[in-house]
Amino acid sequence: MRLNPTIPLKMMTAAVLHGKEDVRIEQVAVPQAGPGELILRVAVALTCGTDLKVFRRGYHARMIKPPALFGHELAGFVAEVGTGVTGFKVGDQVVALNSAPCGRCYYCRRDQENLCEDLLFNNGAYAEYVRIPERIAAKNTILVPHGVPLEHAALTEPLACAVHGFEDCNPRAGDTLAVIGGGPLGLLLIHVAALAGCEVIAVVKRPSQAKAAHALGAAHVVHTTHATNVVEAVRALTPDKRGVDIAIEAVALAETWEQAVEMVRNGGVVNFFGGPAAGTKVSLDTNRLHYGDITLKATFHHTPAICRRALELIAGGKFKAGYFITGRAPLSELNEVFAQMADRGNQIKTAILPGDGMLPGQLAGDLGLFP
Ligand SMILES: [Zn+2]
Ligand SMILES: [Zn+2]
Repeated sequence: MRLNPTIPLKMMTAAVLHGKEDVRIEQVAVPQAGPGELILRVAVALTCGTDLKVFRRGYHARMIKPPALFGHELAGFVAEVGTGVTGFKVGDQVVALNSAPCGRCYYCRRDQENLCEDLLFNNGAYAEYVRIPERIAAKNTILVPHGVPLEHAALTEPLACAVHGFEDCNPRAGDTLAVIGGGPLGLLLIHVAALAGCEVIAVVKRPSQAKAAHALGAAHVVHTTHATNVVEAVRALTPDKRGVDIAIEAVALAETWEQAVEMVRNGGVVNFFGGPAAGTKVSLDTNRLHYGDITLKATFHHTPAICRRALELIAGGKFKAGYFITGRAPLSELNEVFAQMADRGNQIKTAILPGDGMLPGQLAGDLGLFP
């Protein structure tokens, strides 16, 4: 779509998903801002397990149909402001979230915007520029405070999911909280809970995850490959083996869903944070659930208010954002980065740098490139 034929069409480098494990780095037209829209120059896009899933399947039922631009965790600079947009100007540093709720449906009216029936998703972070649709520009694009590296700000989306999951458990300071899973979201949950004053037990598989869990504030680490019985190993870390106050499952397997229920104390809360494949069934002891007065819940996605809190946490200084970004690569190497992720490399998140692979810190100085 050409909105303004007087502006010559510029080309940019972008990753285009064509199908199953088929991502091509191509030259496509730089998007132009329609009414209410923003065009951002992407400073950094972070890799995410969801993107790897999309890469492997070649599509995402709700979010992406090929051929399509993709990538959804990003921070950048406002490069063009559509007519009618207020609150942003060219050069502003922002995080644009990957979705925005409609504000009108049943769920939105009940403060459950994460379940919006018309949640609008946006993808296209693995590119030099990205279009931010009107609704996301209006509801879920946030100015990044000065001094906060854009690489850190790009963590807002996954961190918002973690903050949402943690808050959904109604935690109290001093609670013992187990997180099962040492992937990026598991580690974010561990860090969020530790910063909030919980005693965190991390249940992880690999040595690199154990090291990260400790660094991010876990008081104890249970290695699933060493422990003969993970549930007993976790319970042994609580007084009288009573069990944890809160157990958060962040692996997305039936087995770990069941373990989460078994390791929680009577009256405790279990959050099934990981989303298993459709059709997955688990087996739970109903007698224990009833007489143990156990709360089972799950958390999906985020809301605009939680995204703002997540960015505040990043900007606040205590949150170790830098710890989560373990690698950097130019956009041209995206396929290699996905291959490493699929191979279960030790990276937590890789910062994909568009253009010539400049670091975000350097980008801050080249605002003069904008018209
Ligand atoms: Zn993500
Ligand atoms: Zn809605």
